[in-house]
Amino acid sequence: MSNERRDGWIWFDGEFVPWKEARVHALTHTLHYGTGVFEGVRAYAANGGTAIFRLRDHTRRLFNSAALVGMEIPFSQDELDEVQRDVLRRNELQSAYIRPIVFYGADDMGLRADRLEVHVTVAAWEWGAYLGEEQINNGICIGTSSFVRCHSNPKMSRVKACGNYLNSMMALREACDAGYEEALMLDAGGFVCEGSGENLFIVRDGALLTPDLSAALDGITRRTVMELARERGIEVVERRIERDEVLAADEAFFTGTAAEVT
Ligand code: PMP
Repeated sequence: MSNERRDGWIWFDGEFVPWKEARVHALTHTLHYGTGVFEGVRAYAANGGTAIFRLRDHTRRLFNSAALVGMEIPFSQDELDEVQRDVLRRNELQSAYIRPIVFYGADDMGLRADRLEVHVTVAAWEWGAYLGEEQINNGICIGTSSFVRCHSNPKMSRVKACGNYLNSMMALREACDAGYEEALMLDAGGFVCEGSGENLFIVRDGALLTPDLSAALDGITRRTVMELARERGIEVVERRIERDEVLAADEAFFTGTAAEVT
């Protein structure tokens, strides 16, 4: 079903609107230039109720992303945490993917991007394994992308910005067209960086290695995996990784809110 035709409620600038009526204008600034920031959050049905995975970390990253691109979110972090819980309750969801987005309105065109109102919406829906149920159990085939992940300076890879995802989408499309299920993206120096929407880990002689954050997103699942590994006494190394090392790895996996651990 098209996303536009679902039932349910979307939180839009402070109030709940019916899903089908959560619309924006054709001259929305973010639609033209990708000038927005967003998050992807997951909630799981757990013992004792629904649990949102690292909600505060996601909301904090949303605010950091906004601050880095100079957008002022007209709500507090506490408010948006509560909104995300409310969206689950209102839509009667036990497990869900939650998508908050902060975007500029249609007040003015051009890259000066001043005099623009900042809008926030939060939607949630049931979304199974992003890379597929079978894939999460059996693994995926990945291909090295010809699309390069820019260094953080030009692209601001720390920022989970709408516009950054054109690069990801092109890489994923190229990989799928070639028969793979996900792309392995390299940075401009040829070092391994991440997937189109996931961080990468490799296992070598019992240690976990993951690319540093010079061009990859500071993933919350990545941080969680690193913390869990260290708690268990597993060595975790963040450094530049060459493609050969991925090919020679004992194991490799992607991490991400949508992709989980694949
Ligand atoms: N890299 C990119 C480019 C992503 O889009 C994502 C998904 N947000 C990740 C890594 C994984 O980050 P997280 O674990 O916070 O979802």
